[in-house]
Amino acid sequence: MLDAKTLYIDGAWRASSSGATFTVTDPSDGSALATAADGTAEDASAAIAAAGAAQPAWGATSIAHRAQVLRGLHAAVIAHTEELAELIAAESGKPVSEAIGEIGYGAQFISWFADQATQAFHGEHYTDPAGTTRILTSRRPVGPCLLITPWNFPLAMVTRKLAPALAAGCTSVLKPAEQTPLTAIRLIELLNEQDVPPGVVNVVTTTQAREVSAAVFASPALRKVSFTGSTAIGGELLRNSSHRVVSTSMELGGNAPFLVFDDAAPDVVDGAIVAKLRNGGQSCIAANRFLVHDIVADEFTEKLVGAFSRMRVGTGRAVGTDVGPLIDSRAVEKVSAMVEQAVDAGARVAYRAEVPAGQGSFYPPTVLIDAPLNSPVYRDEVFGPVATVTRFTDEHHAVELANDTQAGLAAYVFSADLSRALRVAAALDFGIVGVNRGFVSTAAAPFGGTKTSGLGREGGLHGLEEYLETQYLSLPVDSPIV
Ligand code: ADP
Repeated sequence: MLDAKTLYIDGAWRASSSGATFTVTDPSDGSALATAADGTAEDASAAIAAAGAAQPAWGATSIAHRAQVLRGLHAAVIAHTEELAELIAAESGKPVSEAIGEIGYGAQFISWFADQATQAFHGEHYTDPAGTTRILTSRRPVGPCLLITPWNFPLAMVTRKLAPALAAGCTSVLKPAEQTPLTAIRLIELLNEQDVPPGVVNVVTTTQAREVSAAVFASPALRKVSFTGSTAIGGELLRNSSHRVVSTSMELGGNAPFLVFDDAAPDVVDGAIVAKLRNGGQSCIAANRFLVHDIVADEFTEKLVGAFSRMRVGTGRAVGTDVGPLIDSRAVEKVSAMVEQAVDAGARVAYRAEVPAGQGSFYPPTVLIDAPLNSPVYRDEVFGPVATVTRFTDEHHAVELANDTQAGLAAYVFSADLSRALRVAAALDFGIVGVNRGFVSTAAAPFGGTKTSGLGREGGLHGLEEYLETQYLSLPVDSPIV
């Protein structure tokens, strides 16, 4: 890693074919952490060629073997929690305590898919209604995958894709986000301590995402792309996938409403803080809009401001930090512009925190009230520590406001009346609904959205499906197999 050999292709660590490198920095203070290889289209072609060549043998390994590899990786990740947490905190800026949480979550995907692999490969055997055909189905790996991950969860976003790919028997090319490649590289080093042949997993670190991804798409070996990131890039990858009918899984942007009814329990504010400020709001399931019943809106806002004011804003690696910096200065500019626009249009600032001085890309945790419904801070994904509180008058109005978005990833409903909470949850056009809880992430649940928030599900009983396809054997009804 020190000599910038951060491309892992066909079982070997390599420098970029162009010799180019890029610097990975700590968003808490702008300091340089490491130099990574700036992979090229040529490197990407080599990576997908290696994945293609490794596919037949890896797909033919036993399920038990692949599950064992994953269990070994799970143990290694847990054993290296401290080191990985430091790395995540350094390159993403999130507090170490949250990085430790991410490792638990990221590791869950590895053990979950080790278990899933042993349960999900069952085919079927039956006869058609006319009694003329015997039907035999089997589950097979879809083939070499391109896995593109974002920077907000440098470990968990990788394991959520890589673990099911490995479990299913797929080989892959992983392209981690350029802001956070170091955790992914360390994960692959840990994977290499398991029994994984060359070419099964390849990693291309790069600042040239579009060129690298185009080179992978140009290969006939590619059968699947799994992407987590912005809706705009997801759309671009869907268009690329259409040319060769490559299978897709897309986890795209959200705009999560957080509904607070007049009978919500007092701990709704704890749920609000988790849903809003985990990773400084840089999560696609982050609460984006607090929709609060008119009767309790003032009291809720006051408590939310109280909770915001107790958050310690600081560097990711400092002990006791609750909210770290945003990922980079571009992100700070984007959030600042959104807030300024809302304030110019009439939103009131109920709270704005202080941020540490220095080079870090901090944005102050902020609570806004009465942001106009057409302002970007309300309509678009904020991806920062800014809460907007908007009032609703009744249940129908709440659902109408909540569903008035093209995004459909996560939503939250808080009400002591469980039948109301469930009724509202069912009316919400979102893939994930937290009912009286602000934390919904677990490897055991299907994560994914409706509308522009994506296609497919990751984790849960559905996550492995994304990496499998079905083959049907048609046999004469009197074939001697039964
Ligand atoms: P963000 O703006 O949050 O970084 P992006 O969608 O730009 O979200 O990035 C998510 C991932 O997609 C990152 O790994 C990034 O490098 C990659 N990416 C960005 N642009 C492209 C592209 N044109 N083709 C393929 N991958 C891309």
